[in-house]
Amino acid sequence: MNIGDFRLEIISDTEIRLDGGAMFGVVPRVMWEKVCPPDSLNRVPLAAHCLYVEAGGEKILFETGTGEKLSEKLLQIYGMKREKSFAESLYETTGVSADEISIVVNTHLHFDHCGGNTKFNAAGDIIPAFPNARYFIPENELKHAENPTDRDRATYNKDNWEILRETGQMETKPPIYEVVKGITMTEMRGHNAAMQTVRIESGGEILYSFSDLIPMTAHLPLPWIMSYDLYPLETLANKKKLLPLAVQEKWLCWFYHDVEMPLCRLTEVDGKLKAIKYVQN
Ligand SMILES: [Zn+2]
Repeated sequence: MNIGDFRLEIISDTEIRLDGGAMFGVVPRVMWEKVCPPDSLNRVPLAAHCLYVEAGGEKILFETGTGEKLSEKLLQIYGMKREKSFAESLYETTGVSADEISIVVNTHLHFDHCGGNTKFNAAGDIIPAFPNARYFIPENELKHAENPTDRDRATYNKDNWEILRETGQMETKPPIYEVVKGITMTEMRGHNAAMQTVRIESGGEILYSFSDLIPMTAHLPLPWIMSYDLYPLETLANKKKLLPLAVQEKWLCWFYHDVEMPLCRLTEVDGKLKAIKYVQN
């Protein structure tokens, strides 16, 4: 598909299951189970829809999925069954190989967004999964990831980024920056302190990712906020600021974790936001 001059494709990595209670915070299960039915272990399915963009002469990958380095124990906890490697999914959808990716962008460093930055080689050493890419990582997020709190330590694993320093591929980025002309990353507090959102604009069209500020369309109602968030009241304030703009400016919204609707537009019906699935042409 295209947005103005840019080619875009969704690359869906392996699904992950997370505790439904943690996903919906203060919302009672009797409400969220109707929208996201849990499995017998109270887990709800989340997608990991990465985004491939050709823009400004670059082949850019936003987010890299959960990666292929997780232990058997973690795969069980998260109910994950990998059917194909991320590189295979990337090639099948885009015709582009991992070697051809020139820029990788992480919105933040939680493992389900940057786990695929690196992989094991045949000898079991960790190597970059995209050997010819520059990796753009928010500097403030990196500082936090390398000195996390006891509450979010489990989601940060330096195996997902440390080698990139040694290979010279890591480029740390300020709170607001342009990936290429027309693609802007902006720090947005709430989910954590330094996660960044993605705004892609070309030919009068706008694609926007709230990243984990609004992980799925189920989180559109204002109080539906994950209990993983470090600053839930700031998530709320940012939702109040951004969602009306998404409706007014007809943003094509990219929901990384939404199983059914990686891309949709939002409309207001009887005072409630409704997501309308965008079907790729
Ligand atoms: Zn996430």
